[in-house]
Amino acid sequence: MSQNSSLRVPEFSNEKARGCMDLFTSTEAYGCSEIHFRTDPDTQLKAIIAIHSTTLGPAAGGCRCRPYPSTEDAIEDALRLARGMTFKAALAGLPYGGGKAVLIRPATIRDREAYFESFGDFVDSLHGRYSTAVDSGTSTQDMDIVARRTHYVLSTSKDKGGSGDPSPFTAKGVCLGIETAIKHVLKRMTLEGVCVAIQGVGHVGYALARELHARGARLIVADTHAGHVLRCNAEFDAKIVAPESIYDQPCDVFAPCALGGIVNDATINRFNTRIIAGAANNQLEHERHGQLLHQRGILYVPDYVINSGGLIHVLVSDQGERDEKLHSMVNRLNDLFARSVHSGTSPLHQATLMAEEILGRKTAA
Ligand code: NAD
Repeated sequence: MSQNSSLRVPEFSNEKARGCMDLFTSTEAYGCSEIHFRTDPDTQLKAIIAIHSTTLGPAAGGCRCRPYPSTEDAIEDALRLARGMTFKAALAGLPYGGGKAVLIRPATIRDREAYFESFGDFVDSLHGRYSTAVDSGTSTQDMDIVARRTHYVLSTSKDKGGSGDPSPFTAKGVCLGIETAIKHVLKRMTLEGVCVAIQGVGHVGYALARELHARGARLIVADTHAGHVLRCNAEFDAKIVAPESIYDQPCDVFAPCALGGIVNDATINRFNTRIIAGAANNQLEHERHGQLLHQRGILYVPDYVINSGGLIHVLVSDQGERDEKLHSMVNRLNDLFARSVHSGTSPLHQATLMAEEILGRKTAA
């Protein structure tokens, strides 16, 4: 498949794909250039690596490990996440392309070392066109195991000389993005008294709660893991609500920090907020939900812009350069918001255009 397949992505229908998924139709719908599969019955590995683009450099992106209802769902997740990584790297000014690994997790992984070693062999077989990193369901320790089999792994643990867990840095970026959004929408100069509802207080969500609490924000939290919300209540006086009720909470900012697809036909009219800005990848089920939020007067801060801290953390080793790249996100967001006001289209639409401009310039050069 051509590397230069169209960057403009038509809406891809979940419903249409189920039952009759055509791999080429799906990869083209997301503009992906490559998709690779590896199955290893001895270790239970069922892995997919999607490479969206290598226009700006070798592809980089996390490795997600979770159960999926079907192989089609896992493939779609990989394709969509890989595309987001291309845009994320482009807008963060990083010389990398976009890729993603998805591992279809079995009910129990019998031998985690063998499982991630086998995944490491898979990554190595691509000879550096894709480098992997932590994502939902994987840890820096898992990446240490992967590193036994390949050099193409980021975010190994600090004691192994790696960058360590990127989550606190991701949370810093999300907090900066929220500050930028409240200035734009609420004309509030600080987070003091601003109410933020956080969906999912795991690695990034918890670190975000800490950042926001330190700046005087009021917090509402929900998580399917009881211990995670109790910790936020004890440390940050966060109000706890049930996972299903978080959408209905009146708040200034809704911060999705669990999984993707949470802005969908069932939830879109429930949001009682002015801003949606959080760490989760692929927060919109479909791109049209971005336009619907825009019509409802809710500012959606594109996920692949606001959550770029993690990618910056694993790819940039110099602390000064890391901070500079993270802070340049504020200018980028202000630029996106201004373009959105000027054009009457959503910041997400503007972010896509901006990423396409960057990729197009490189292709033409
Ligand atoms: P995590 O697994 O540590 O945290 C996710 C949390 O969400 C967990 O506490 C989980 O119990 C909770 N959760 C799951 N389903 C839920 C539901 N229905 N309602 C409420 N809570 C629910 O993952 P993480 O590393 O914190 O990443 C969170 C999101 O941010 C993911 O989408 C990830 O891809 C994205 N992201 C993470 C980073 C990073 O640096 N870790 C960087 C960029 C993007």
